[in-house]
Amino acid sequence: MSAALSHPLSKDDLIQIFKSTGALLEGHFKLSSGLHSPNYFQCAKVLQHPKYLEQLCSGIAEHFRGESIDAVLSPAIGGVVVGTEVGRQLGVRTLFAERADGVMSLRRGFEIAAGERVLFIEDVVTTGGSVREVMKLATERGAFVAGVGFIVDRSNGKVRLAENQFSLLQLDVVTYQLDVCPLCAADVPLVKPGSRPSPLASSSSAVPTTQQGTPGV
Ligand SMILES: [Zn+2]
Repeated sequence: MSAALSHPLSKDDLIQIFKSTGALLEGHFKLSSGLHSPNYFQCAKVLQHPKYLEQLCSGIAEHFRGESIDAVLSPAIGGVVVGTEVGRQLGVRTLFAERADGVMSLRRGFEIAAGERVLFIEDVVTTGGSVREVMKLATERGAFVAGVGFIVDRSNGKVRLAENQFSLLQLDVVTYQLDVCPLCAADVPLVKPGSRPSPLASSSSAVPTTQQGTPGV
């Protein structure tokens, strides 16, 4: 509601857009955390449409427009598209960090200088782990946190990363442990969507076969 002034889309509008583009799915999903959920949100599905990319990112950019910002920094991969568009709308340079040997790193000659004010942008935050890592990368270099913005807060406001934190939409995501999942009990087929392999294989569930190592760099 506080975003109403700067953003033309209501929560209902946003959910309608997410559903119509297939970004918000209903069913029985295994999340990257290993938990099961009746919903799955794949932000890339909505951001593939330039109209929505611009519209959604404008909601974030307008929130931070009054701030002094030197650079936008996002965690790859999900944050790259959103960060780039927010950075474009704010007219500041945009960088991303990526995992190298499992650790978030600045590569490709990207640099953050001491004293710079950095805005951190992500598409979807569930635990905030990746954003925290990227924030650490910048603050270790002496940069300041200008703010943190993302499209969807799946922690429903529980994750607090910065004083000036903004999300377009807070989603109250229902999750279940495997042993109490009513969808499992009802034999609803389980779908494991998304591009992110589970970093931690749970002890009980079957682990899908994965290739060891990442081809190419
Ligand atoms: Zn289940």
